[in-house]
Amino acid sequence: MKKYDVIIIGSGLGGLECGYILSRKGYRVCILEKNSQTGGCLQTFRRGNASFDTGFHYVGGLEEGQSLYPLFRYFGLLDLPWHKMDENGFAEVLLDEKSYLFASGHERFADTMSNYFPHQRRQIIDYTSFLKKVGDNMMNSFLPERRNEFTVSALYERSAYAFLQESIDDPLLRNVLSGASFTMELNAERLPLYVFAQINNSFIQSSWRLKGGGSLIADRLAESIRSMGGDILTHAEVTRLKVHNGVITSVYCNNEEEFSGKYVISGIHPSLTLSLISDNRYIRKIFRKRIDELENSYGIFTAHLKLKANAVPYLNRNICIFCGKTPWEYAYYRSGEKTTTALVSFQVPAEGDYTPNIDILTPMHWQEVAPWAEAREDTYRAFKMRKAEECIALVSEKLPGLKDCIDRVYTSTPLTYRDYTGTKEGAAYGIRKDYKHLLYTLLTPQTQIPNLLLTGQNLNLHGILGVSMTSVFTCARITGMKNLLNDIE
Ligand SMILES: Cc1cc2nc3c(=O)[nH]c(=O)nc-3n(C[C@H](O)[C@H](O)[C@H](O)COP(=O)(O)OP(=O)(O)OC[C@H]3O[C@@H](n4cnc5c(N)ncnc54)[C@H](O)[C@@H]3O)c2cc1C
Repeated sequence: MKKYDVIIIGSGLGGLECGYILSRKGYRVCILEKNSQTGGCLQTFRRGNASFDTGFHYVGGLEEGQSLYPLFRYFGLLDLPWHKMDENGFAEVLLDEKSYLFASGHERFADTMSNYFPHQRRQIIDYTSFLKKVGDNMMNSFLPERRNEFTVSALYERSAYAFLQESIDDPLLRNVLSGASFTMELNAERLPLYVFAQINNSFIQSSWRLKGGGSLIADRLAESIRSMGGDILTHAEVTRLKVHNGVITSVYCNNEEEFSGKYVISGIHPSLTLSLISDNRYIRKIFRKRIDELENSYGIFTAHLKLKANAVPYLNRNICIFCGKTPWEYAYYRSGEKTTTALVSFQVPAEGDYTPNIDILTPMHWQEVAPWAEAREDTYRAFKMRKAEECIALVSEKLPGLKDCIDRVYTSTPLTYRDYTGTKEGAAYGIRKDYKHLLYTLLTPQTQIPNLLLTGQNLNLHGILGVSMTSVFTCARITGMKNLLNDIE
């Protein structure tokens, strides 16, 4: 049996960041990853000389004083080849056949938006300063004595949708302000304000792509962990957790290899974590049921387009297309619906002015791929091709001639995520948080087993910012929060 201080299940961003924090604190960690590549949703995949991002496409808040800065400074990730997106428009929202730019920086954002909606200037300024206050208070959420209205009550038990209804009079402006929210599920009946506000604020602060793709984040964290003495094993699927006298005593990999650690941190879906423990004495059946029944967010379909050389000029912003009535309608599954929304992301070229690849992302519910959950058939291939064609046709309205510039098309669906990252139902953003049922949908890192902790996008807030915050909450259970914050701030 191999012994460590901490065993971590999964090398997604959450697992790697926990590995980094605890290695820096002197703990001997071992990360067990089922795949050949580390990173989970940060993985890139190669086809010939082209590489594509899978999950991660851009982050917000990387400048000093902004949300992600202190965390990425601590993780040693600030000197990666970050590429700042256009400050005058990091996102272009196409809605009702009109185009709206999202500018970076709170003042510039409010000014630009007010040019489109001059009659709503006051409300736009109030909205923007609310988001700013949420961001400015983010680090205060780590310590109870620092918490205030912008870290707790004003955000968590409040509906994002209702907030917009109450604070913005013009319904079109409400839709426009929601239009760059592709990195979350806009569910009017569920989405808590803190998710909407933290994520939108961080992108408005400043938005960044990574030249070279998301795997650079995973590679850098893995390199740092190894240099501090930690181990990261790939092709190492955790298949069982053995509990004795109420604590995890062994972690079994690939049904045979045995590891032990004083602590075990799981960066995979909580319901999958519990399924690794067969003994019902330690995890009550009612608790298992509760976790198993939690709803998950929708997944994402991506059409990864490899483009012909020098065919499409690089665009330093995302394009967000909506042909439906409102960005808030995609959270609901409707069978047979055509693709009416897409996020278009351009890959930063290694050199020159032309992009090598474009990814088109659109929400995809589990129900759409469920027929092939057990076995892929030719009909699945045809389904994916049809969907890719719909995406290309939708985007061609904005980028005429796109079809002629495409060399190859690759696709990924929620089934791809389920199989590669083990994400339940291929959910893009993990467990669906519900402002009305926060105690049920917002999980803490602590489980009923004292030495088993949870981390990752399912707990608190998803995305790069959310997972990074959660890794701090998780590791603080071992190191103490004040001690850890001293290193980060
Ligand atoms: C299509 C898409 C686009 C996105 N775009 C953005 C974006 O632009 N910006 C942003 O901020 N966020 C984005 N996100 C969200 C973000 O990528 C995720 O929230 C985050 O990367 C999740 O990290 P994680 O560590 O929680 O989980 P994961 O990345 O899912 O990691 C879990 C890891 O555990 C491994 N694993 C699973 N089961 C086992 C097992 N039994 N044993 C060992 N290992 C196991 C998996 O292989 C995986 O490596 C996007 C997500 C998707 C799906």
